[in-house]
Amino acid sequence: MNYDIAVVGAGLAGLQCARLLASRGLRVVIVDRKPSVTGPVHTTGIFVRKTWEDFPLPHEQLGPPIRDVVLYSPAGRPFPLRAQRDEFRIGRMAWLQLWMLEQCTRAGVEWIPGAKVIACDAQSVTIVRNGKRETLRARFIVGADGARSMVAEQLGLDRNRELLVGIEEVVPAISRERVLHCFVDPRLAPGYIGWVANDGEEAHIGVAGYRRGWDPSKALHRFRDSLPWPVGRAIERRGGLIPVGGILRHIASPNGLLVGDAAGAVSPLTAGGLDGALRLSSFAAEVIGAYLDHGESRILAQYTGDRFRARFIARRWMRQAMRTVTTPLVAEAALAMVRLPGLRAVAEHVFFARGSFPDMKLELAASRV
Ligand SMILES: Cc1cc2nc3c(=O)[nH]c(=O)nc-3n(C[C@H](O)[C@H](O)[C@H](O)COP(=O)(O)OP(=O)(O)OC[C@H]3O[C@@H](n4cnc5c(N)ncnc54)[C@H](O)[C@@H]3O)c2cc1C
Repeated sequence: MNYDIAVVGAGLAGLQCARLLASRGLRVVIVDRKPSVTGPVHTTGIFVRKTWEDFPLPHEQLGPPIRDVVLYSPAGRPFPLRAQRDEFRIGRMAWLQLWMLEQCTRAGVEWIPGAKVIACDAQSVTIVRNGKRETLRARFIVGADGARSMVAEQLGLDRNRELLVGIEEVVPAISRERVLHCFVDPRLAPGYIGWVANDGEEAHIGVAGYRRGWDPSKALHRFRDSLPWPVGRAIERRGGLIPVGGILRHIASPNGLLVGDAAGAVSPLTAGGLDGALRLSSFAAEVIGAYLDHGESRILAQYTGDRFRARFIARRWMRQAMRTVTTPLVAEAALAMVRLPGLRAVAEHVFFARGSFPDMKLELAASRV
């Protein structure tokens, strides 16, 4: 089969990119090793305000809004923060991805589920489907295949090195209060946090951290047992890798480019990647469309991680700081400092600033000079 573009991976990044490319009249195929876009889901699915304001997401698939955050120190001391406006909504991810796939097929994207990509090179993608090997021909390849991108490796692009592992259970709501509870304790979640995200309809209980010497499943069990609320039976279990080293530098070649987690488009501080998946994919679609139209390497040269990395310096620095918090004593002291009047604003900024992954504009005129 011949296509203009083959998108590998039908997560948020791949679905967004595929739809936008097909809307430009290009022949697009999207493949995923999963038999359905509805599962298994690996993310909690917390969207920040700027994402649902800037992207046409189906509001009925986003849970009730959350304004309250409570930080807990290792000794269990709570530190509540309240936003002026609604800041977070938990996406009903299976339905949301199904909706995005429908938008793709309406735009003309061909969908091939249950197709594992085993190799790709200039203009071809090899898949295994129902035990059979097939080759798809495409002028350009989009690697939207997650944190451990095979496309990145095959096309000689950069690969994520710094990864957290996250694991969670979805349970019935623990209360009617809509709160994001964040537990800072390096014994529980080394380098990140434990969370209970409760939107009054469902709750997500999870932990994430650096894998070395840490057992996420055991940590999640201990965490669940330690919670002060009665917790119902798990409806769903989720988990996966989260790249937190910041966006990669070399993310495009004449044969293909990377989007979403494959490109490391995740906040090194909060580990949120849904906004980055949508924003970087939108820019990628613009770059690919122009590149296939004009064939100029200067267009592709604009799709480099270096343009984004400068915007993440503070967040990358704070990630390094989080990595050094290895004892409960240090975490306790850090949270005690956050209670100081001047530093409270920093905590509020981390949770409630209307920040997002940077938006980039393609400079077409400049690229033709
Ligand atoms: C536990 C956890 C909780 C998280 N919570 C949040 C959150 O609340 N908010 C937030 O903003 N971010 C969160 N993140 C991060 C966020 O989920 C990701 O950044 C985002 O989902 C990335 O989307 P993506 O489309 O790039 O990748 P993915 O969603 O990982 O999609 C990649 C797709 O590629 C497919 N694939 C991979 N290899 C192949 C292959 N060889 N052949 C065919 N298909 C392949 C996979 O099956 C998958 O469907 C969380 C991550 C984890 C692990």
